[in-house]
Amino acid sequence: MSDYNWCHGPECHTQQTQSRVRGSGENKVLRTIKIKQDRYNGYQNGIWNYFCNNRCLFDFIREHITSIVAIAPRREPLETPIKVEKEKYESYRYDYTKEQRVPYMATRTRINSVDND
Ligand SMILES: [Zn+2]
Repeated sequence: MSDYNWCHGPECHTQQTQSRVRGSGENKVLRTIKIKQDRYNGYQNGIWNYFCNNRCLFDFIREHITSIVAIAPRREPLETPIKVEKEKYESYRYDYTKEQRVPYMATRTRINSVDND
């Protein structure tokens, strides 16, 4: 098993950075970035083992979005049970005609998780 991947960004080899320049004399090229595996210790499920940067990741997603969502299609929405709590509390608004803070009863909405064993 090799310890590197080539960046999967479809336009990686066209980005004009010095890190991509290879070759000598008049035979220089811009080459796809070689990525050392596990360079970020599994951060974000190892996604950065396949892409050198955000642009390459999103170029890949844009080009292959139809195939990507076909792997795990979502045909129905998912739902998470919650409890919604409304709470009244005293707040202030600024009255510009009186040039002072004026109290009023405001409403705050809290979304709480529900334990569903
Ligand atoms: Zn790249």
